[in-house]
Amino acid sequence: MKILVINCGSSSLKYQFIDMTNETVLAKGLCERIGMDKSFARQTRGDEEPVTVETELKDHGVALQAVLNLLRDPKTGVIGDVSEISAVGHRVVHGAEKFSQSSVIDDEILKGIKDCIEIAPLHNPPNIIGIEACMRLMPGTPNGAVFDTAFHQTMPAHAYLYALPYEYYEKYGVRKYGFHGTSHRYVSERAAALLGKPIEQLKLVTCHLGNGSSICAVDGGKSVETSMGYTPLDGLMMGTRCGSIDPAVVTWLMEKEDLDTKAVNDIMNKKSGIFGVSGVSSDFRDITAAAEGGNERARLGLAMFAYQVRKYIGQYAAAMGGIHAIVFTAGVGENVTPLRVSILKDLAFLGVAIDEEKNKIRGCEIDISADGAKVRTLVIPTNEELAIARDTYALTR
Ligand code: ADP
Repeated sequence: MKILVINCGSSSLKYQFIDMTNETVLAKGLCERIGMDKSFARQTRGDEEPVTVETELKDHGVALQAVLNLLRDPKTGVIGDVSEISAVGHRVVHGAEKFSQSSVIDDEILKGIKDCIEIAPLHNPPNIIGIEACMRLMPGTPNGAVFDTAFHQTMPAHAYLYALPYEYYEKYGVRKYGFHGTSHRYVSERAAALLGKPIEQLKLVTCHLGNGSSICAVDGGKSVETSMGYTPLDGLMMGTRCGSIDPAVVTWLMEKEDLDTKAVNDIMNKKSGIFGVSGVSSDFRDITAAAEGGNERARLGLAMFAYQVRKYIGQYAAAMGGIHAIVFTAGVGENVTPLRVSILKDLAFLGVAIDEEKNKIRGCEIDISADGAKVRTLVIPTNEELAIARDTYALTR
């Protein structure tokens, strides 16, 4: 069985085509600048050089058609006919309280995903466009929805409620939902395998640190607390997002700078975080280079980020009444090795200690703990596409 995994953003479509008999990625690619000028589709087959097609992608339907053409290209493709795609797995950002697990998409499920637009106005619409394009271009091929929020639906009410008037939760569903659930679930399952222990017996703190970052407390395989909230703006400071701040600052700034809601949202989502503090970049490679070159604000940004991650680890150890392992994943968590040292410094009192040599190894699953460390520290590359493919496979085979 071969599964096409699709992740639709507002102007992009990323995909992987995975053979589930051995979980190999036959091809992967992306369409960029959908609905804009200079749009293109690019596909990589195995270890070969990518193939790029510059073509007008006026909407996601046209982009999907370009993907299908690339997949069945006689020279550079991987299938002879679209019927070889057994099912499509879709990343869906928000499932609210309706979806606590992945689902095969039928009319009712699609309506449920549409109902979530009210609380995910930026994220769910492109996901829905991708689903509808697949239904139109591949009628009869089943579609699975895998939700970023689903894994966190196990959080208890005392963790997910905000101390606002309760009626806003009842009327609008204002509460913490959490995101990156597919990644937190995938790496916590891999952590259990790496530690050789049943996941039911483990208390883990998983740190997904990328452009967007979130931390999760996983107790017995279930998410019991996470740092993102009603939206993916909350929690840790990120590449360009501010994370948690005093909510009163928002209204104060609006008055002081005469900002409307869109403008203040733009500042918090696109001009803040490590970019806003450093004034350098949102990319941790640039920030690290600037800090090494003596840029004080880049150093400050990195120090703030490490401090915030460290505080979350402490909080979540307290929330679970203990901790067996810390897991680092995603672009920053997997690659920025000195940052892991700064994050974990001062956590020796919990039983955390890392081996600095092992900490330098990249690109594989590894236990970087020092011999005898009571709390293990693991680096586990995330693979959300594989997790989506596995769920879709399980739902549709
Ligand atoms: P997202 O999926 O949230 O867009 P990623 O998980 O791909 O983000 O992470 C992107 C971040 O990871 C960027 O800030 C980038 O600087 C950082 N990153 C990726 N690879 C490396 C690397 N080899 N060295 C340092 N930083 C890296």
